[in-house]
Amino acid sequence: GLALSLAACSAGGRGATSSDGGDESNGNKGALVGVAMPTKVSERWIKDGDAVKSSLEKAGYKVDLEYADNKIPQQVQQVSNMITKGAKVLIVASIDGGSLSDQLDAAAEAGIKVISYDRLLTGNKNVDYYVSFDNYKVGVDQATSLLTGLGLLDSDGKKTDEKGPFNIEVFAGSADDNNATFFFNGAMDTLKPYLEDGTLKIGSGQDGFTQAATQQWDPALAKSRMQNLVAKSYSGGTKLDGVLSPYDGISIGIISALQGAGYGSGDRPLPVITGQDAEAASVKSIINDQQYSTIYKDTRQLADKSASMAQDLLSGKKPEVNDTKTYDNKAKVVPTYLFQPTIVTKENYEKVLVDSGYYTDADLK
Ligand code: BGC
Repeated sequence: GLALSLAACSAGGRGATSSDGGDESNGNKGALVGVAMPTKVSERWIKDGDAVKSSLEKAGYKVDLEYADNKIPQQVQQVSNMITKGAKVLIVASIDGGSLSDQLDAAAEAGIKVISYDRLLTGNKNVDYYVSFDNYKVGVDQATSLLTGLGLLDSDGKKTDEKGPFNIEVFAGSADDNNATFFFNGAMDTLKPYLEDGTLKIGSGQDGFTQAATQQWDPALAKSRMQNLVAKSYSGGTKLDGVLSPYDGISIGIISALQGAGYGSGDRPLPVITGQDAEAASVKSIINDQQYSTIYKDTRQLADKSASMAQDLLSGKKPEVNDTKTYDNKAKVVPTYLFQPTIVTKENYEKVLVDSGYYTDADLK
């Protein structure tokens, strides 16, 4: 009784004295929410932006959705504008996680709540919540599917009698994206025992994150690195059996380089190549036996969760989290809600992607 009336009283008090005139009793309906997305070059972010916008609008909020064309100054400007326009919550998928510190300070100053979307905002304590997928597990899943594709694991994840040895190469994402190291670490920890006992060999020897990284996840950079690797380590008839790729766009660059070098025709099959995001073009590539696997992360889950977090924050409620220790952004450990990723191959794409309504069969033709 007492706790309840105290809570009611303090909620009322906050609403009444709120300096911005916000009304928590109705969840600040009609308030503006700023949504900053990195780029439209990759289909996943278009799906994310659309889904976040529609979830928020359904809940009664106004939305300013902006894409920054992968240009950091553009995103900085967009977030500044959202603050000026009076946004009450910012939902941000950054290009460079560390580049928005001034904006985060300004947001805190103005009482604006910040939700870090999919990618962690780093180096600043003014980040209220983080919603993402289990990024380390994404890397584990990518490596696991590479091992399955090579025949080292069976479909139940058990070791087979296959001993290799297999030649592989490894790619990582953009160093300014906190997720990239999580993906890479999850993958390399999983591959480690196989690299140590010689079942797998990185032909080029390039096994470090810095060597493997792909600035801004750029497919063209991945393509040229793959061309160089082929020229350097696979020109004398050495077979390339697998490539760890962290993202579907990078996989497309890798495949293009390999096809240019004669893989995928005659007696030179394409290696086992992984990916991430289940983008339509890459699911088609999986169906056509080019790419081997991708990682599906249902953007609708992420969008709904970030919208409900925003609504909670605007109603004076505490958003639900399920991880309070993993995501240290170097200024604080950000309370996080993580979803689980799913491995997709030719065997299960229909069930995972089509039956769930993420794609129609026509999208994948
Ligand atoms: C996302 C991945 C995506 C990559 C490139 C990462 O931050 O988590 O889903 O593949 O960025 O856009």
